[in-house]
Amino acid sequence: MVVEHGTKNIVVIGAGYGGITAALRLDRLFRHLPDYSIHLIDKNPFHTLKTQLHEAAVHKRGVTIDIGRIIRRQRIIFHLGITTAINLREKTIHIGDQPFPFEFLVVALGSQTNFHNIAGLEQFALTLQSASDAEKIYQHISVMCARASSEPDPNVRKRMLRFVIGGGGLTGIELAGELVDHISQSLRDYQLSGGSPEIIIVEASEDILPASDKELREQVRKRLLEKGVRLLANTRVVEVSLSGVTLSNGEVLRSGTMIWTGGIRIADVARESGFSIGQSGRIVVNEYLQSVSDPSVYAIGDNALAINPATGHPVPAAAQFALQQGRLVAENIYADVLGTSQRRYVPKVWGEVVSLGRHLAAAWLALPILRKLAFVGFIASLLKAAIAEKHIILLKKESRNWISY
Ligand SMILES: Cc1cc2nc3c(=O)[nH]c(=O)nc-3n(C[C@H](O)[C@H](O)[C@H](O)COP(=O)(O)OP(=O)(O)OC[C@H]3O[C@@H](n4cnc5c(N)ncnc54)[C@H](O)[C@@H]3O)c2cc1C
Repeated sequence: MVVEHGTKNIVVIGAGYGGITAALRLDRLFRHLPDYSIHLIDKNPFHTLKTQLHEAAVHKRGVTIDIGRIIRRQRIIFHLGITTAINLREKTIHIGDQPFPFEFLVVALGSQTNFHNIAGLEQFALTLQSASDAEKIYQHISVMCARASSEPDPNVRKRMLRFVIGGGGLTGIELAGELVDHISQSLRDYQLSGGSPEIIIVEASEDILPASDKELREQVRKRLLEKGVRLLANTRVVEVSLSGVTLSNGEVLRSGTMIWTGGIRIADVARESGFSIGQSGRIVVNEYLQSVSDPSVYAIGDNALAINPATGHPVPAAAQFALQQGRLVAENIYADVLGTSQRRYVPKVWGEVVSLGRHLAAAWLALPILRKLAFVGFIASLLKAAIAEKHIILLKKESRNWISY
């Protein structure tokens, strides 16, 4: 590991949406201040386009970009390793068992699956938090469709073609939309006439997408039902086994597939490092996105509990906010070093797009003067693709030396 002596380290942990944006902006701002060096740490050598994981799980498309390609010819020093500890008193983090000092720290470790201590869930369910999770789902679904095609027993076949998704939030919904189209096509490819896929979403709240706009929620529900997805709201998963899923209403869904998207929690290292932790177990930050436990530490993205001053509510865990926060913390650290005033975080809510499979999505967009435009269909799916592409374009713009292979 390169430890630079005599320079002050600005360390960003996590190279997801928030972290990579913060590191690139820091590099640009601190270019003329050679006393400071920018360090980026991640357990993977790639940046994951997490908002497209549901597509990767179904269509096996690439959703990672090598970090080397993004930070090429920048002053950013990348460290591949797991952050195992954050010591606020000594101002060090540990990469593996190696301590590393920081002057400023940006915690951008994202989130991981929360299994809520549900019996059998961690052991038997698939999850969708990383590119390797997506690959596992892809393999599993391919195997289920292929096996079903030659299975003579209709009951066994039914079980193979029943896919249970636990959690009706954005991840579960987008995955369900993608799965319906894909599995139906796969069964046609195998010329399987004696069975149709059954996709069931189990949601503990009153409705799917509990954190989303009401109108959007209704459109999404309508379209999913039209596609044949079964929605079970107000229902909890209580146990998962190799043969199926037991629900709080007593029903047992005999199924060969349980995909759990029903909860997230922050990385253990962030939770156990002495930060003030608030609602949903996230790091409490002030209006400048500094941890209230230590002003030299900033937290952004899924692992931060930022409050929207306009509503008084926590800012949702979403890529659009992680990106905004990444840019702002870089500017606030720079302001701190220069002794100028920092900027308050005010989230820009431009809208929301929920993909519902190939060529279909539901969206709403914020228009000037508190007006809202809601729409469903192909145009919304184009908008979803454009948002994903915009992230790549902004990364390229921020890094300037990007190479396309
Ligand atoms: C299927 C799916 C669809 C989604 N769709 C949307 C959408 O349409 N719109 C939207 O706004 N949001 C969407 N989201 C949510 C969005 O992806 C997250 O809110 C966003 O990724 C959060 O960004 P982040 O920077 O906080 O964390 P992440 O992007 O998760 O990055 C965290 C990084 O930290 C690294 N890391 C974690 N722990 C350690 C450790 N101990 N040591 C070293 N490195 C570590 C990880 O490898 C990762 O690179 C979706 C999520 C999923 C799963």
